[in-house]
Amino acid sequence: MLTTFGCQMNQADSQRLRGLLTKIGYTETESEEDADLILFNTCCVRQHAEQRLIGRIQSLINHKRRNANLIIGVAGCMAQNMQAEMLEALPLVDLVFGPNDIEELPLLLQRAANGRTLGSFVDRGAFDGDSADGIILNRPFSAMVNIIRGCTNFCSYCIVPYVRGPEISRPMAELKTYISELAARGVTEITLLGQNVNAYGRDIGLEEGFTQLLEMIEDIDGIRWVRFMTSHPRDFSLAAIKRIAALSKVCEQYHLPVQSGSNHILELMKRGYSREKYLTLVDAVREHISEACLSTDIICGFPGESESDFADTLELVEKVRYESAFMYYYSPRPGTKAAEMADQLSEEEKKDRLARLIEVQNRISLEESQKLIGREYEVLVEANAARDQTDLVGKTRSGRSVNFPGDNSLIGSYVRVRIEQARNWTLSGRMVTEK
Ligand code: SF4
Repeated sequence: MLTTFGCQMNQADSQRLRGLLTKIGYTETESEEDADLILFNTCCVRQHAEQRLIGRIQSLINHKRRNANLIIGVAGCMAQNMQAEMLEALPLVDLVFGPNDIEELPLLLQRAANGRTLGSFVDRGAFDGDSADGIILNRPFSAMVNIIRGCTNFCSYCIVPYVRGPEISRPMAELKTYISELAARGVTEITLLGQNVNAYGRDIGLEEGFTQLLEMIEDIDGIRWVRFMTSHPRDFSLAAIKRIAALSKVCEQYHLPVQSGSNHILELMKRGYSREKYLTLVDAVREHISEACLSTDIICGFPGESESDFADTLELVEKVRYESAFMYYYSPRPGTKAAEMADQLSEEEKKDRLARLIEVQNRISLEESQKLIGREYEVLVEANAARDQTDLVGKTRSGRSVNFPGDNSLIGSYVRVRIEQARNWTLSGRMVTEK
């Protein structure tokens, strides 16, 4: 049984973990009781994820007592970050390995069967062994593709550069082969992933490497839609936006994490752009990409954030009118610069600001969604809807979820849907014609 926490890069790593486990004879179980291997692919970006994981592992004590062969493993960023401490702090854990050790999993499992073990936590410096036939996709028509690992930005609140290391781009030729293999397997939609996709190619001497990569994918037969995340506003050039606007496969979904609307806080966060530069980028996206859907990440209550800084964030949110936002309150990560800063805000202040921000953004999300009622969109049908199994759920090019009545046989195909209702982010409608 494999449980994934955290970002889409972790989801992509889980595609590989599943593939490797299947190759060596494992099948996925529905419940922990039936499992001989319980693996957690972890994230260390937020502290509460750590606490959740520790709780989950501790709750496995009875399974471990009942099944002497049960191996409990922890993979991913948290494993990389805590390594030996994790074996020490969690006696139920048999195996700890980092994101760069995934290919070693079969060997590590053999070692874990003979006693508790740690991965090598190597800095591979390459995407060794990633091939499209070795992954298990959650949906056979849609794949996540890691194009760049690590991050060299060192935003003052973020642990990722310390854990995942410097940026390493996957060579373009290798990506061409990989994505072509995916297309040959029936994948029509890909999501390109990286902590900072706009930095793609910088470490291998490519100028505007990310744009070149998108242009290369435009020519791969079989791929219809291309999404990407996460963009760093500092590294997204206006020239790149103009070139991307000409590519028909690139979906109109732009996740541009702003983090704060205050220049003072952006400076403290070491984000490398100002509020003004960010707004210029937003204007360029809206000017060149019709129907662009903008989303963002925002941290409330960063150390030193005054009420006036927070008001700048609210004002920016009103100005940009994001379709959606991931909103958090700041939680210090040990080992980062921000964790050492003076002027840490109280939990109450942080929670209060987050609640106020959510209220504003929810209103905007609903207003923006309601504008779509009566319009028609092409939708990739993904699955049965969670709430009502007679409904299907799919995504528009802009990344919005749409529920509509339809038959299971449509899953994986592209249909047109007229929007009839809107709740904050989710839309519902009716199919118009099949494509
Ligand atoms: S860009 Fe900043 S927030 Fe994103 S992973 Fe890198 S350091 Fe962390």
